[in-house]
Amino acid sequence: MVAGKRTKYLKIDPRVPELHKIRLAARILNRGGVVAFPTETVYGLGANALDARAVRRIFRAKGRPSDNPLIVHIASFRDVQDLVAYLPPRATLLMQRFWPGPLTLVLPRSEVIPDVVTAGLDTVGIRMPAHPVAQALIRAARLPIAAPSANISGRPSPTTGLHVLKDLRGKIDAVVDGGPATVGVESTVLDLTAPVPTILRPGGVTYEELASVLGEVAIDPAALGEQAEQPRAPGMKYKHYAPRGEVFVVTGEIERVTAKIRALVADWQRLGYRVAVLATQETAPAYEQEPRPDHLEILGSRSRPATIAANLFAALRNCDRHQADIILAEAIAEEGLGLAIMNRLRKSAANRIIHA
Ligand code: AMP
Ligand code: MG
Repeated sequence: MVAGKRTKYLKIDPRVPELHKIRLAARILNRGGVVAFPTETVYGLGANALDARAVRRIFRAKGRPSDNPLIVHIASFRDVQDLVAYLPPRATLLMQRFWPGPLTLVLPRSEVIPDVVTAGLDTVGIRMPAHPVAQALIRAARLPIAAPSANISGRPSPTTGLHVLKDLRGKIDAVVDGGPATVGVESTVLDLTAPVPTILRPGGVTYEELASVLGEVAIDPAALGEQAEQPRAPGMKYKHYAPRGEVFVVTGEIERVTAKIRALVADWQRLGYRVAVLATQETAPAYEQEPRPDHLEILGSRSRPATIAANLFAALRNCDRHQADIILAEAIAEEGLGLAIMNRLRKSAANRIIHA
């Protein structure tokens, strides 16, 4: 669409999506438009994956570098066949176990997929989202839908329809608002074309779950914050998930972390900066006394990382609303969903890690 054109806003019931709204959004996709829609992970910005012109509109709206590939979303198992050159046996196993759900499989691509979708790679990332609105929309459009997260490139991913509007109003054809995304971090991207299945991006399906099905699973060094010489997925090299304030992640034993963050709050405030803290239920009381941060976000409970994942991106955006210059985030344990959470935090911090 032409920049500055009106973006349709369609509020929809996530449990029983109203059919006329789904059809309206599907028609826009069929005509080559771009539509943001809810998935269980984050909001996606979708276009017809088989139409190179439509897909280029996604890149333009987001300001996304053209060498960063998109994930193709489908709504039925049958749809995979046409999109891939062949299906390795373990792909079928994983699809049965984790689809629909937050797992993207990187597979050898077929020629129906335009280069712009895969950034010229000979592989394609495919996933079947679990969200009823995403499923209804893909079915109604009768198309595979290419969709990255529906944010301006580099910003925190959107977990509500309003986050999408904030970033992309006037740049896309429509937003389907089906309420907050429940998982809150993106899908796990698993490369099945490597000799050992390799996690390129940790996400909603955990390493532990994948290992229980596959036995051996590798994690790409870049996903762990180590500098890979040659990133496997181009998206891994970009600045990501970043609010306007500078994020620092503080690691170490928990009492030392809270003490260190309190000292840093005092230091930065003395220099005249506005400081936000990303804390957990267990640690929040430490920041409810002097020196008080200018803004405190309580992400969730350390014993339930899913609560932290669900709130993470909204919390980063809230820090912007509160005009935080500095955002101090507590590290959490890198197990289960914690691996994905720490991956996003480290990237939003551009690897500024402080050891307490
Ligand atoms: P986004 O949804 O904005 O987070 O972007 C999708 C991400 O999926 C990209 O940044 C890549 O890391 C990954 N991805 C998509 N397709 C491929 C592929 N063919 N090979 C490797 N990674 C991929
Ligand atoms: Mg993204």
